[in-house]
Amino acid sequence: MRDYETLRQQHLARAMALAPEMIDRLEWPAYALAAHRVRLLRELVREAISRSPWHRERLAGVDPDQLDEVSLRELPPMTKADLMANFDRIVTDPRLSLELVNEHLETVTTGSYLLDDYTAVTSGGSTGERGVFVYDWDSWTAFWLSAFRYQLLAKWSDPELASRPVVMAWVAAAHFTHATAALSRTFASPDFISVRFPVTLTTEHMVAGLNVAQPDFLVAYPSALHVLSVEARAGRLRIAPHQVLSCSEPLLPEIRAAAEEAWGVRVGNIWGMSEGGCAGVACEQGRMHLSEDLVIVEPVDEQGQPVAPGERAAKIYLTNLFNPVLPLIRYEITDEVTILTEPCACGSAHRCVADIQGRLDDVFVYDGRRVHPHVFRSALGRRAGVVEYQVHQTTQGARIAVRCSAPVDLDGLRGEIALALACLGLQRPVIEIMAVERLERDGGPAKLRRFVPLESRRTAAPGPRAEPVLIAAR
Ligand SMILES: [Zn+2]
Repeated sequence: MRDYETLRQQHLARAMALAPEMIDRLEWPAYALAAHRVRLLRELVREAISRSPWHRERLAGVDPDQLDEVSLRELPPMTKADLMANFDRIVTDPRLSLELVNEHLETVTTGSYLLDDYTAVTSGGSTGERGVFVYDWDSWTAFWLSAFRYQLLAKWSDPELASRPVVMAWVAAAHFTHATAALSRTFASPDFISVRFPVTLTTEHMVAGLNVAQPDFLVAYPSALHVLSVEARAGRLRIAPHQVLSCSEPLLPEIRAAAEEAWGVRVGNIWGMSEGGCAGVACEQGRMHLSEDLVIVEPVDEQGQPVAPGERAAKIYLTNLFNPVLPLIRYEITDEVTILTEPCACGSAHRCVADIQGRLDDVFVYDGRRVHPHVFRSALGRRAGVVEYQVHQTTQGARIAVRCSAPVDLDGLRGEIALALACLGLQRPVIEIMAVERLERDGGPAKLRRFVPLESRRTAAPGPRAEPVLIAAR
């Protein structure tokens, strides 16, 4: 095994060599991006058929050279359960196995490459179902650039930022098995300093650390972003970021507004995933663009039928075009996205995606009635004193933990939510609200699961197809 730091430096050099082309692709016209995707799709499927026994069986009879983005829709989709059950037959390097990758993940805190080439990450996902993903040398580089090409471009095109090292602060997952942490370790450089604050730190420590770091770019889970914007408005957090981005959890409108007010910059979203890197990244206008040179995103309904641009999808099928070692072809991800057709003022031909408002898994089902988290979110989000919250579904309603920075009329809040649920047909809803010092975060990536359904999605029966998701009338 070669020395980690030597390999890492080579990897960083490779990333810098690939960056100009990846940045250039941000300006490609739509037809060039489409042609590029079809070329990569054919290469990926050819590789999958020739080197992955699992894909070879499923894709029998498929001619890679005839594939395009329309005929792709005829291929069978795959799920995380498929991936985990067939991992050893899906990877295209026979030396890799789930057992080997899991062993490697146990030791990853010390910094090492698997077989001198691979980086592995896990994802808890909002369902808590563990996924394991492995990237080869160049695909891990592409993963990093899928997010950081925007910041590299900002640095290279701004004389002030170009003249000094830039600092990027992450308020996110702490563990190196999580992609964001693993990426900042692999590609750490003196020009591009990454500072990490585990989201589980106390607010006081986080604020003190950020005041010292003075980040040019701030990336944070929305739940943390909201806390930080409260701290900034109170004058305790004194930073002036060039750009603020949120990741991993839905960016709620009220959180975005509070952060934009606190720092006077547009707040954008990163739609990152362990499966496909940053599938969407906000430009400086704050609008999120699909990474249309790296992934194919098919928005579909619950039955897997295509959803038109402008309509919200129930989930997507993702085809990762840049990681041939773990071919993910039409891989199901339950993010509710809306692809937009209106162009962005920044001029990019990469289509825009509306803010991801929630995940299917967040929907609460009461006796077949599906209640959208917005019912809770709108009542909680309008209380200025509520810094963060977590809603657990109960058989008759919900148990809500709130952390407040100022007095909040909890009785009024309870009444409003109960009334909203009653209007949606729940009989005598019971809402409990507790003010807490801090919220319980799950283990793993320490991501706050804001809405916790009574049963996990894996065990719950799917809601009836015709039943609409209920959103309280405003
Ligand atoms: Zn834009």
